[in-house]
Amino acid sequence: MKKISYNNMELKELEDFFVSIDEKKFRAEQLFVGLHNKNYFDLDEFTNISKELKLKLEDYGNINKSEIFKVFKSKLDKTRKYLIKLNDGNIIESVYMEYSSHNTICISSQVGCKMGCTFCASTKQKFVRNLEPSELLNQIYLIQKDVGKRISNIVLMGIGEPLDNYDNVIKFIRLISNKKGYNISIRNITLSTCGIVPKIYELADENLPINITISLHNPFDNERKQIMPIGNRYSIGDIIKATKYYFQKTGRRISFEYTLIEGENDSYIHAKELRRILRGLNCHVNLIPLNKIKEFNKNSSNKESINKFKSYLDDFGITTTIRTSLGQDIDGACGQLRAAHNFN
Ligand code: SF4
Repeated sequence: MKKISYNNMELKELEDFFVSIDEKKFRAEQLFVGLHNKNYFDLDEFTNISKELKLKLEDYGNINKSEIFKVFKSKLDKTRKYLIKLNDGNIIESVYMEYSSHNTICISSQVGCKMGCTFCASTKQKFVRNLEPSELLNQIYLIQKDVGKRISNIVLMGIGEPLDNYDNVIKFIRLISNKKGYNISIRNITLSTCGIVPKIYELADENLPINITISLHNPFDNERKQIMPIGNRYSIGDIIKATKYYFQKTGRRISFEYTLIEGENDSYIHAKELRRILRGLNCHVNLIPLNKIKEFNKNSSNKESINKFKSYLDDFGITTTIRTSLGQDIDGACGQLRAAHNFN
């Protein structure tokens, strides 16, 4: 029988479990606080749990551990990129970014990705499996220990499509924002999706008002499908409708990521269409210069075209920023580190 992992469980589940093994409910809270507030990875670290109870807990379950496999430190800024080894040997990537006002970690949600976006390094390796809630949490707990600083913001933008691992991601968000645990504000969590429409509606109804970012990259369905196969399942119109619903339910402004590819999606016509589809939506557009990977033979729009595209959108009244890439000396785009190490 597969053992349960205590760090996959919400407090209520732990309490029910403790009662089921004839232990006091408050013991469950001690375990929960140790795991998620003090970030213990081992039962030996608990001084408030008796030896006897530790042995009993070891019989029924374990703490699902991950470990830092390799760290790449930028010489240009304080960015650190991590390869993290899961307990089955799979490797994922996470990135730590330090700003003057906050510290952010970009985490992975799956080993590999099924979505097949042509410009993305993550998709070049096959999908292996979903991450468990504890494996999402461990990325934060391990990195915060390594950098010695509290993490204030989380972005689910690493390897994988978070809405394709919906239940585990929702559980992770509930665990990381639990006031008795790590207690990260829900409003400091951002999830990026390629646009799995039914899951956007489901998320809107969860009463978890996190920020969402849509990977759009092209305002025309026929062109978007060429680089993002998900476009064959859900049209841009469907995505925009879902984001309107999300905003209505959560009050959170929607962000759109738009990677600029030379000669492909950086024309005035594209900016104009973007204005048309985003009309009436409380949103923000984040322009991203393409991070070149060898499997996608296109170039990023140059600086001048990027600024021009931004000025079109500014003129149309769309709030737009250009993303500055941190840690450019340590292999930019998500999935590139893992691919470079040939872990599948
Ligand atoms: S961009 Fe995101 S959804 Fe698309 S293949 Fe990469 S990780 Fe998956």
